[in-house]
Amino acid sequence: MIMNLHTHTHHSPDAADTVAERLCEAHANGLRFMAVTDHVEINRYYPAEYYGKQQTNEYWYDGRGVFERSVAEIAAAVPECGSVRLLCGAEIGQIPQDPEKAALIYNDPRTDLVIGSVHELPGRPDFYFLDYEKEDIPALVTAYFEEVYRLVQTDCWDVLGHLTYGLRYLPNRRAYDLTPHLGLIDEIFQTVIRKDKAIELNGSGLRKPQPYIDPDLMLVKRYYELGGRNLTVSTDAHNTKYLCFGLWLLEDMARTAGFTELTWFEKHQPRKVAL
Ligand SMILES: [Zn+2]
Ligand SMILES: [Zn+2]
Repeated sequence: MIMNLHTHTHHSPDAADTVAERLCEAHANGLRFMAVTDHVEINRYYPAEYYGKQQTNEYWYDGRGVFERSVAEIAAAVPECGSVRLLCGAEIGQIPQDPEKAALIYNDPRTDLVIGSVHELPGRPDFYFLDYEKEDIPALVTAYFEEVYRLVQTDCWDVLGHLTYGLRYLPNRRAYDLTPHLGLIDEIFQTVIRKDKAIELNGSGLRKPQPYIDPDLMLVKRYYELGGRNLTVSTDAHNTKYLCFGLWLLEDMARTAGFTELTWFEKHQPRKVAL
């Protein structure tokens, strides 16, 4: 298998296992490129006390600490990575809420790539924690894509993380009609393309009883037809046993959408590898 450019280790508050354990699994699966991208929720970059708050399940703080501990472990593992090209990254959540802090990580000379993700709308918890019975769903989804649009206007990211995350936990996601949002989604894609950045095929939903991929094939084809050629694939693994789960399906989907190459990043420079 070619790549998995979005993975979390025990440094992320919701994930387990070390970089060494990931490398062992990557070797066993013949993976060629692997990025470790632990969570940095940029709107909570400092420990909770800094904000006069307490850490809860909904709100993790100390993104800077996570980043420093993660990067140190990645750097120590690079000499041991053998045939796997180990890339140093971070998944930054909510970049539009504090682009200056995000730039600190993006411009850190140790990072190869930054995934920019929207997990939360301003002042609200992660989409995972919302009570969808009480939400105006079309308004919520519109707000999600508007926030992604704000994200792609910034520059401190390389890969747009799991586009359609805002739909992930909808009670009936498969029935949700994206048609009203396609104009804004096209603008998001055009911005990604103009900036020579990438989107990802995120397969974390493949483990669910009703499996899904963020974004779906219709949207990936649309990105390709608009001229998008930078695409990464990932399982967003939070546990070593899922490191390569469904990767072949994601590669297959990329081919179906028209891609003949995938993209990886070396110090924020896009590089191609044949698909
Ligand atoms: Zn994410
Ligand atoms: Zn992630």
